[in-house]
Amino acid sequence: MRWDERQLAMLREMNVRVWAPPVDDTAVSVDERPVGAARPAPAPAAAAVEQRVVLSSSSVATLDWPALRETVATCTACKLCEGRRQTVFGVGNERAHWMIVGEAPGEQEDRQGEPFVGKSGQLLDNMLRAIALTRGEAEASKQVYIANTIKCRPPGNRNPEPEELAKCEPFLIRQVQLVQPKIIIAMGRFAVHSLLRSTEPIGRLRGRVHAYQGVPLIVTYHPAYLLRNLEDKAKAWDDLCLAMETAAAHSA
Ligand code: URA
Repeated sequence: MRWDERQLAMLREMNVRVWAPPVDDTAVSVDERPVGAARPAPAPAAAAVEQRVVLSSSSVATLDWPALRETVATCTACKLCEGRRQTVFGVGNERAHWMIVGEAPGEQEDRQGEPFVGKSGQLLDNMLRAIALTRGEAEASKQVYIANTIKCRPPGNRNPEPEELAKCEPFLIRQVQLVQPKIIIAMGRFAVHSLLRSTEPIGRLRGRVHAYQGVPLIVTYHPAYLLRNLEDKAKAWDDLCLAMETAAAHSA
């Protein structure tokens, strides 16, 4: 990919040094699976989890925003409810064109009730600014909606467990249905694996367009990972570029 002046300005905004990506642009492919199309059959162990998800999904599948918010706020479906200060529902424009999906609330998010408010949130905000998006008030094409796969903080910031991910998934599914985004960016291993039903490393999943509930989905690294691995920020920038191209193609 070559950088034009506007992109170079965005890179500076993100504190990303210009980098010549070794990737082959032709590797980008679009998963054209239509809305509601069958997912690949889950592995036997995953099948049981999927079954529980389907069952509990039915009770939230028709909720509107206030009812969904209330259901999440009072949820006791898994043991994470015991240690939370509050649930972290989501933030942003409820009809946003862009939806960002992270992993789970950390300590700051658990205190403030908003996703991505810690250091990784600052980086996320910079990344969004670099592509002219914001979490602050703006029209639906400019203001993102941010949600996590898990709405309660895992104690000690441990990794979410499969059952916790499965119990929480109906809420995210409903959020996606209500927002109806044009594009989803999944950040980090747990968000990506949970949305795509994949266990492949992020490095192998990024660089192409996937789909979640018929919405184009771009895989990228979690901001917290990028804070520890500065050399991968350039790849995250590439992912944002792919997301912009994909969003433009789907809005045309
Ligand atoms: N990491 C996430 O994935 N989500 C948050 O809300 C905070 C940190």
